[in-house]
Amino acid sequence: MKTIGLLGGMSWESTERYYRFIQEETKRRLGPMHSAPVVLMSVEFQKVHAMQHAGDWDAAGAYLADHARRAQAAGADLLILCTNTMHKVAPAIEAAIDIPFLHIADATASAIRAQGLDTVGLLGTHFTMEQDFYRERLALHGVTALVPDAEDRELVNRVIYQELVDGTLRPDSRDAFLRIMQTLASRGAQGMIEGCTEIGMLVTPEHTDIPLFETGWLHCEAAVDAASGKPRSWEPVD
Ligand code: GLU
Repeated sequence: MKTIGLLGGMSWESTERYYRFIQEETKRRLGPMHSAPVVLMSVEFQKVHAMQHAGDWDAAGAYLADHARRAQAAGADLLILCTNTMHKVAPAIEAAIDIPFLHIADATASAIRAQGLDTVGLLGTHFTMEQDFYRERLALHGVTALVPDAEDRELVNRVIYQELVDGTLRPDSRDAFLRIMQTLASRGAQGMIEGCTEIGMLVTPEHTDIPLFETGWLHCEAAVDAASGKPRSWEPVD
């Protein structure tokens, strides 16, 4: 099996889940004694957060590109960036490495199309919901993303940065997310992209009948596909 490189720490709460998802999926496919070789490069999130909010995307891209290079030098055969938002600087990261980079929106869009859907809601940081880099990538796959109105985008963004990245899960925030998802469904969304790698900690399929596309999980599935050479439907050995 190839070595999966994780460029994470944004936040570490979600990167911890990436590590677990990858190992669970590897065990499911290959059998109980199997585990995936992983290189984890975990960055200082406060620095990234400051660069994001200063609009200094060039510096953020250079910072992540440097850590991507280090993950490659440590033996990663492929790389995944464990945040939706920072895919804004994916071109800088891809230019810095020679190994494959698996884009989170490609993994997500493939899962949406595999279910025969083409219009979904998108919840994430305001960068992800409002800027072009993410919705345009989905559109390349024929997926249209609907976003909440300005007031609800503000709420979702606030919950992500003031609660979820800190591991805080509040029932009233969950209720608010569920209300926003229902509104998007009434506008035509056939499913919902949890387009921030922490949202899956708050809203799970047990909370709603709306199909959820948990980007972190889908990203890990794509990484295990690439690293194991075994398709998702492959049955594990005993
Ligand atoms: N993990 C989040 C995401 O998937 C947000 C944290 C960040 O700003 O990178 O977008």
